[in-house]
Amino acid sequence: PPVPDLEVLQHADVARLLPEPAGESDKYRRGVIGIVAGSARYPGAAVLAVAGALRGGAGAVRYVGPGGDAVIARFPETLVHEGPPSKAGRVQAWAVGPGLGDEPGTAEPLASDVLASDVPVLVDADGLRLLDAATVRARSAPTLLTPHAGEAAALLGVPREEVEAGRLAAVRELASRYGATVLLKGSTTLIATPDPTAPVRVNPTGTPWLATAGSGDILSGLAGSLLATGLPTHDAAAAAAYLHGLAARLKSRGAPVSALDVADGLPAAWRNVR
Ligand code: AMP
Ligand code: MG
Repeated sequence: PPVPDLEVLQHADVARLLPEPAGESDKYRRGVIGIVAGSARYPGAAVLAVAGALRGGAGAVRYVGPGGDAVIARFPETLVHEGPPSKAGRVQAWAVGPGLGDEPGTAEPLASDVLASDVPVLVDADGLRLLDAATVRARSAPTLLTPHAGEAAALLGVPREEVEAGRLAAVRELASRYGATVLLKGSTTLIATPDPTAPVRVNPTGTPWLATAGSGDILSGLAGSLLATGLPTHDAAAAAAYLHGLAARLKSRGAPVSALDVADGLPAAWRNVR
């Protein structure tokens, strides 16, 4: 039978994906997520990505970048590392890009160091501007790209309207070009893999209250953390999108929410899915 083009994520499917720590787990076995985010200009993005990562199931969050003071002030449980990501110690997955800025001397070396690693890497926001398809295709571990429509348009070299008018084609084309899993954000979030015969996953839990500054940074940390627990890329993307939308709904109940509210809603979203 023909494979359907789309697959709407179901509560029960996501429930099966959520990692459960084994009785004998320790923080390293649960997975360490490395976050590379923030800049002198956007220190808050580092805080938000860490906030998402702390509720994503990994046993520890390592932060690498110029926003360490801001991160520690808000989340003292974060392991802050100065120096290149490749020297940061054990990390099972990286999330790179939120608020990284575009200073040639800082953002670029951090991103290329992360992309050279042999663990799964999520690339979002400013990190997406530093990507070339050949580098991503040559990686030895999976890559997850999380653009919104404007970032997807820049990656494809087309106007934003073209992505908006053909979101399914755009997400499939990006996944094929980059040989990566692609999560295209927006009012409906679409998730594609490079396999053109696999259905594109659709997340139904979003709410327009998520259209608020910083909510994408929460998603990056959350999805990266799920990757660090060992979830396959496609599943980490699906579970993150589902939980993120549900957390926003549970916190909002019809009222505005901030990005940090969404992060605070993640434990309730997990319990709700379980
Ligand atoms: P970003 O564009 O990186 O700030 O991320 C925004 C987040 O909010 C993504 O997870 C989007 O999918 C979500 N979002 C934005 N607008 C809407 C909307 N109208 N309905 C549902 N989710 C949305
Ligand atoms: Mg964003």
